Amino acid sequence: ALPTTEGQVDVLIVGAGPAGLMLANWLSRTGLSTRIVDKRGTKIFNGQADGLQCRTLEIFDSFDFAHRVWRESNHMLEICLWNPDENGQIRRSDRIPDTIPGISRFQQVVLHQGRIERFFLDSIKKHSDIDVERGVLPTAFDFDDSKAADFNDYPITVTLRTLSEEDAMPQQQYQHQKTADGQSIASDGLFRSNLTADDTDDLVRAAETNARADQVESVKAKFLVGCDGAHSWVRQQLGFKLEGDSTDYIWGVLDIIPVTDFPDIRQRCAIHSASAGSVMVIPRENKLVRLYIQLQATEHAQGGGKADRSRITPDMILQSAQRILHPYKLTYSYCDWWTAYQIGQRVGDQFSLHERVFLAGDAVHTHSPKAGQGMNVSMQDTYNLGWKLAHVLKGYSEGSLLKTYQSERRRIARDLIEFDHRFSRLFSGRPAKDVMDEEGVSMEEFKNAFEKGNEFASGIAVNYGASVIVAKEGDSAEQGDGTDVRTQESHRVVSKPQLATAIPVGKRMPSFKVLNQSDARPWHLQELLKSNGRWRIIVFAGQLTAPQNMQRMKQLGARLGAPSSFLHQYTPAGQPIDSVIEILTIHAGPRTSLELLDLPEAFHPYSEQQGWDYWKVFVDDQSYHEGHGQAYMNYGIDPSRGASLIIRPDQYVSWVGEVDDYDEMARFFSGFMKPQTAGKEVDAA
Ligand code: FAD
Repeated sequence: ALPTTEGQVDVLIVGAGPAGLMLANWLSRTGLSTRIVDKRGTKIFNGQADGLQCRTLEIFDSFDFAHRVWRESNHMLEICLWNPDENGQIRRSDRIPDTIPGISRFQQVVLHQGRIERFFLDSIKKHSDIDVERGVLPTAFDFDDSKAADFNDYPITVTLRTLSEEDAMPQQQYQHQKTADGQSIASDGLFRSNLTADDTDDLVRAAETNARADQVESVKAKFLVGCDGAHSWVRQQLGFKLEGDSTDYIWGVLDIIPVTDFPDIRQRCAIHSASAGSVMVIPRENKLVRLYIQLQATEHAQGGGKADRSRITPDMILQSAQRILHPYKLTYSYCDWWTAYQIGQRVGDQFSLHERVFLAGDAVHTHSPKAGQGMNVSMQDTYNLGWKLAHVLKGYSEGSLLKTYQSERRRIARDLIEFDHRFSRLFSGRPAKDVMDEEGVSMEEFKNAFEKGNEFASGIAVNYGASVIVAKEGDSAEQGDGTDVRTQESHRVVSKPQLATAIPVGKRMPSFKVLNQSDARPWHLQELLKSNGRWRIIVFAGQLTAPQNMQRMKQLGARLGAPSSFLHQYTPAGQPIDSVIEILTIHAGPRTSLELLDLPEAFHPYSEQQGWDYWKVFVDDQSYHEGHGQAYMNYGIDPSRGASLIIRPDQYVSWVGEVDDYDEMARFFSGFMKPQTAGKEVDAA
């Protein structure tokens, strides 16, 4: 059919799972025109992914909705390891903290994907009129190479077709079933329990789309992002491949309210039985418990082909769990969801076409669910991409900034697959009987891997390589595949990591409490780093009672405040001076030794409508009710010398240098930012 209507958009997102929604959420803050379509008629109601890393919670907090997740989710504090004893009977061998203490102000939690999607939808609605268009399927794609280099042009054309409600019904992974003893298994969305009210919107909309069924539209886009899951249609259009193993394990997943005498059912457990396999227990919200059981694909498929998933039933998964947990008893009073799925451990060969079409989430990496990474890494892909798209579209940055998406995220995906490989073997292997049993898995090794894996699994370990936006020595973000995006030598900016020994350049900014200079209120530093698209310079000014430190602040303030400064140069005319680069100051105290207005205006900007900005200057000092954050000590910054930091809009650390090293800061930004001064390109948006 010929397109009946035509449209134009800055960013078109295909797929409204966690990756697509994170991107729409970022863009909802930017005012850029964005559309997001999904072939499914409704959002997810239950099941699927559920684990949230502490890094993901930090990100949610930067968008102001972590508190909703924190309140509703189940918090996982302890992991128990169970292994066979010398008689082959399982026993608890270890308890370890689920989240490494001190790593984040949040701990790992679990909450099902449907709720996460809900929070995103609410957040997007609050900041924009972007609406997920459900039951909409892209059917054709065209890319005009000649327009690829001009970021004001529309090289992408996509045809979208609206499906009828019947066609858009989600293909559920579960069918209505009864267990051997006649218990009914939840299957058809009737058990939405407390979630029904929230989802009314979706159901109403499903009916509305019906009226538009079979309508066809041609959309021109500046950017296209495929967040359309493991079978990505966008990836297929680009002809990109996933590399890695295709035959693998099958996972059986069961969400139940258990009835059991197993003592650790409300802890996260990894249980290795002597010969009946392994199970992972994940205690969930609403009294649910999730059981993950890895079944060998070879048990179900001949010759390494696709396993016959249809032969797996919830009963089968339960029976496996019962065998592993023996002599403890396990049944359930209610089953919320179950699934069986086969996963490959694969990474996309390319994440973008000419930095105009991007792939994110399951579309470029698939792996097992056991470390709870799928949803997290997928969301973090588009968290990395969102602000970069916005800065290029708004003309703040050169298009080359977008190269860092692949160079940064592809390495993370590879690390993830490697981690998954190692961990799969340890998780599913039979426990070693003794030290001579080479085929078996040493439980000591498993524990070590689990503990080490924990840092990786928290998301905090992410450490982006050197690039135009990460000023450090060493490897570029990703070597060996032609995506080295280090800035040219003339722009080469160097950090002085010794000035802040506990703030690794390339990792996300750690958080400690500091007090607002003007009202003494304590804040976690990360709370000041909202995801609103701003770059930040954090000036750790040191002790301002020392005259030389105050003198440096005066000099830095004068240079930043000058009309010719990079700060002014990169801020579009008519916009607040902190709208592209925000300056935050943290001095070493005491609080009462300083008056805000002792500092130059650059550190607390003034406007006629708003007066002085009282939310830019902070101090590392004792609070009245929440102790002393000891920020300087914890960041490894010498209070007599201080340090300045450049922080990316996604909270990763770009540069560490001397407090007053204005020239190096200017050089850093000149590597990828576009001056906005007279004669600048007019922002089309
Ligand atoms: P998805 O969540 O897959 O979202 C993709 C979206 O794109 C979907 O809404 C889909 O409808 C839409 N879409 C797809 N194709 C098109 C198209 N052509 N046009 C328009 N829209 C399209 N992870 C865990 O950590 N633990 C688990 O227990 C777990 N269980 C899972 C069970 C199942 C059945 C599945 C499918 C996945 C499971 N995962 C699990 C993986 C986890 O859900 C994913 O890693 C995560 O959702 C990835 O997010 P995403 O946004 O990249 O992709």
